[in-house]
Amino acid sequence: MNNIIQGIASFQGNVFPGQRQMYQQLVRDGQQPSALIIACADSRVSPEHITQAGPGDLFVCRTPATSCPRPPTWSAASSSAIEYAVVALGVRDIVFCGHSDCGAMKGLMNRDLLKRMPSVASWLRHAEAAERIVCEAYPEGRDAQARHHALALENVVVQLANLRTHPSVAAALAKGSLRLHGWFFEIETGALLAYDGANGRFRPIAGADMPVAQDSSTGSRLQAA
Ligand code: ZN
Repeated sequence: MNNIIQGIASFQGNVFPGQRQMYQQLVRDGQQPSALIIACADSRVSPEHITQAGPGDLFVCRTPATSCPRPPTWSAASSSAIEYAVVALGVRDIVFCGHSDCGAMKGLMNRDLLKRMPSVASWLRHAEAAERIVCEAYPEGRDAQARHHALALENVVVQLANLRTHPSVAAALAKGSLRLHGWFFEIETGALLAYDGANGRFRPIAGADMPVAQDSSTGSRLQAA
């Protein structure tokens, strides 16, 4: 804990005094984050750090494997975070951020790793569709690293599909007030890929070019009469 204790002292002694007004304004005006980011709980994947966001910029929900349950197994924690972000805060964007070298994805590929972690194993059921896709629809013969990479990418797409079943998300998409994004952070290179829902591919986020997984113009729903 020493590094954490030192960090707190540094924040209170060196950082907060220079940011006091900003924090007080965030209390006075309330938070207005522009996006909800759902990311893996992995300590190397910090949404605030990789987007260089500050206090008040992002509403963040972190779960192992960046998973989003769907009915009837909604997790109260992640479901309420999504609902609060969409309904109370009115975020315009939700981002799912998967990453390389994900321990949860390794557990999905090798269930022996999960034998002593029944809670993790149960949670990873929400990512099982991604595993089935890689096992049954990808060519055999790929090495473990390539399959792990494919699984992590497929998991982002599967979780986006789960997210669309959330009532508050479905309604906001139908109103055109919300966009969905699927990101993949490559820890070792710092690269950030985004899922382009129009052509079903991940591509790098470059400058102002931000691929979108789904907005009001994509996806399937009844057109208004
Ligand atoms: Zn992870």
